Amino acid sequence: MDSQKSFDPTALQRLPLRDALRGQSPYGAPQIEVPYALNTNENTHPVPPAVVDAIGKATLQAATTLNRYPDREFTELREQLAQYLGHGLSREHLWAANGSNEILQQILQAFGGPGRSVLSFPPTYSMYPLLALGTETAYVSGVRAEDFTLSPESAAQQVRETRPNLVLLCSPNNPTGTALGLDVVKAVYEVASEINALVVVDEAYAEFALEGTASALSLLPSRPLLIVTRTMSKAFALAGARLGYLAAAPEITDALRLVRLPYHLSATTQATALAALAHREALLENVEAIRTQRDRIVADLTEMGLKPHTSDSNFVFFGWLEDARAVWQSLLDRGVLVRDVGIAHHLRVTAGTEEETSAFLKALRDIVTHTDELPL
Ligand SMILES: *Cc1c(COP(=O)(O)O)cnc(C)c1O
Repeated sequence: MDSQKSFDPTALQRLPLRDALRGQSPYGAPQIEVPYALNTNENTHPVPPAVVDAIGKATLQAATTLNRYPDREFTELREQLAQYLGHGLSREHLWAANGSNEILQQILQAFGGPGRSVLSFPPTYSMYPLLALGTETAYVSGVRAEDFTLSPESAAQQVRETRPNLVLLCSPNNPTGTALGLDVVKAVYEVASEINALVVVDEAYAEFALEGTASALSLLPSRPLLIVTRTMSKAFALAGARLGYLAAAPEITDALRLVRLPYHLSATTQATALAALAHREALLENVEAIRTQRDRIVADLTEMGLKPHTSDSNFVFFGWLEDARAVWQSLLDRGVLVRDVGIAHHLRVTAGTEEETSAFLKALRDIVTHTDELPL
């Protein structure tokens, strides 16, 4: 199924749609049936049977009370998430929603909106401009260096010049894969706090980071305008459960209580997330295997003459291909779906299981050595 195909923009013309949404397209990573789907950075390892069992039992239990609204404050879940994160955090610092996308939307609903702006640094997560659009927050595109890196000086200078209400940093960055140094977050925060702007660090891929890469969670004490968002969609292999969360000062979570829908986290969602957290060792076992495949992709692409970027995540962004679109199609013809993120000469691939990674590497080697689509 391709979600784009069910969207017909002409049918919207007659509707009294908000002006800001006219002519816009929804988020639409292709959902195509292929042997090797390596395009949306999911964790391709299935949930281990013991965890499936625990989730089944927990949701069965939750089903017995579905006549009642769930715990609106998801107290136990916030407690367990705080324990998982460590860094001296407790449940008042934690907030959760149906995916970190909903977390980001709530942040923009509470702190963005008409007449306000959010600064981010493309190429970055494609949902940011869409979330800004939906909340009528002006999206300001900052710039990165030619190699897609962002220095503390440049980032701070751009905050000073554009004076946004929020700064959205993605670390490790999607689609480039590289984490920001904490020096960048600190430099951005310093300028942002002078103008009372929030700094959000989206750490969706934090668990996959390279040795020595630090989390912005360590910067939370004494920084009341800093928010770190996380998700169970990637390392925890729970994209289908929809559970994202954040850590921040308690007053930030209070602000989000003003915009969240009542009982937004269903009883089954809470039960699923709690069961997963109770079995986090088994779930996170695959993170190490995925990092190994990620590093293998980087090594093999380098050997093929391609240029993979440093990856702190479960995917690899690589150049330089003469015609990235043609390579994307040739890979698809061989049953491997990767992501064309619209950046010339580059593609992004998710590190899957060992077998999936082998299939991708074999197909790409085949294309690079047997066709005209050579690396630049
Ligand atoms: C995948 C991803 C998310 C996760 O979104 P969920 O709504 O939690 O599934 C968030 N941010 C980035 C940058 C991502 O790539």
